[in-house]
Amino acid sequence: MITINDKRDCSGCTACYAICGRHAIEMREDPLGFKYPVVNTEKCVECGLCDKVCAFNDIYSTPDNLDRPIALGGRHKDIEEVDKSRSGGIFAALSDAVLSEGGVIYGAGYDSSFRVIHKRATDPSERDELRGSKYVQSDIGNIFLQVESDIKANRKVLFSGTPCQTAGLSSFLRLRKVNCDRLLICDIVCHGVPSPYIWRDYLKYIQKKERQKIIDVNFRDKLRFGWSAHKESFKLENKYISTCTYTNAYFQHIMIRRSCEVCHYTNLRRTGDITLADFWGWEKSNPDMNKDDKGISLILVNTNKGARHIEQIKNKILSFPVNIEQALQPNLQSPSSVHPGREQFEKDYERFGFEKSMSRHALIGWKHDVVRIMDRIKRKVHNVARKFRKL
Ligand SMILES: Cc1cc2nc3c(=O)[nH]c(=O)nc-3n(C[C@H](O)[C@H](O)[C@H](O)COP(=O)(O)OP(=O)(O)OC[C@H]3O[C@@H](n4cnc5c(N)ncnc54)[C@H](O)[C@@H]3O)c2cc1C
Ligand code: SF4
Ligand code: SF4
Ligand code: SF4
Repeated sequence: MITINDKRDCSGCTACYAICGRHAIEMREDPLGFKYPVVNTEKCVECGLCDKVCAFNDIYSTPDNLDRPIALGGRHKDIEEVDKSRSGGIFAALSDAVLSEGGVIYGAGYDSSFRVIHKRATDPSERDELRGSKYVQSDIGNIFLQVESDIKANRKVLFSGTPCQTAGLSSFLRLRKVNCDRLLICDIVCHGVPSPYIWRDYLKYIQKKERQKIIDVNFRDKLRFGWSAHKESFKLENKYISTCTYTNAYFQHIMIRRSCEVCHYTNLRRTGDITLADFWGWEKSNPDMNKDDKGISLILVNTNKGARHIEQIKNKILSFPVNIEQALQPNLQSPSSVHPGREQFEKDYERFGFEKSMSRHALIGWKHDVVRIMDRIKRKVHNVARKFRKL
């Protein structure tokens, strides 16, 4: 039976939870809200399926993958679709094609209090909620079982998620011997997933500070700030605000899941038929397409099935071939390295709660403001020194 001795060994994909026919596994939250499987030994019959299904290791299976992914740059032809998506709107084009065949889409959306959860969509308006990156680990719940039942009902399915979620789903369906011809899997290049509790508490903190309810959230509002900017935004009852606090904590890797620091999928052996990413470094391959800073996608076609689906949407997107070596962004080469204070942060959060732990670690409050001012000064000094060196 599955036992987690080291938190880095579990991505929280839920494959073990879904496979257990005895309902002996519960996904239980840790102090930061990341879920881990816990076995009820009274219900467990030691069948070993949960160990067998776990794909969070270096020998995960990708039997249908091409020798090397085919890399493309691209964006949706309809600029409104690009505006509504995180990068180039390729997910929208792919999911529109699946919906037009009566299919079902699975991806990350919200519950009524903006908790990030995986959801099922059967029309474009439900699908629209799944667009855009949510920088929090999404709660999969029992979605793998729903995907299985849709496939068995002969519906076409598109499942989209982080590489660990897509690897877990494939492994679960393989062990269940489900015919996956009608399943298209899209994974994303993944930097790591932040804590669900920090996201929840940050929303409460904003509401308390502003004395207003949050009506809507946007992890990266590219219409206001452009695709390359990275700020979270909130629509409140009668105003709109943007902050960098959450994003800043994310990129310090102080609140990401422990498995992300040893992620097995930060390479070109992808766990989806198609991989989607922001195309950082696009200028070298096509200096024109993203001049408006509206967003451009990197598309990795990993299987023949993926290639067929890209062919199907080719009249909806503008795309161009890319030399894959020019597209190897950091998380296609290695996992994100975790902040040295990650463990202490978790302990402080458990002991003192959100505001005190965030301020102790200079993520909010006066210490945070001082660090930011120092950073700004350092950047200015650096730029001036560079100018002098050029003279
Ligand atoms: C946590 C996270 C880390 C990322 N790290 C990188 C990175 O390092 N480099 C990079 O180039 N791109 C990264 N991305 C991917 C990128 O931001 C875009 O999601 C991707 O380019 C797709 O853009 P799109 O315009 O085609 O689709 P969009 O319409 O923006 O659709 C986004 C898709 O991502 C899925 N998704 C969104 N949030 C989550 C979530 N929390 N968990 C699982 N699936 C989710 C949705 O289901 C949807 O299918 C990351 C995304 C997330 C969520
Ligand atoms: S990685 Fe997935 S299958 Fe493996 S133990 Fe964690 S939740 Fe279970
Ligand atoms: S060994 Fe079998 S019964 Fe026990 S928890 Fe794992 S899947 Fe369930
Ligand atoms: S970095 Fe790896 S382990 Fe972490 S969420 Fe992304 S795919 Fe999963």
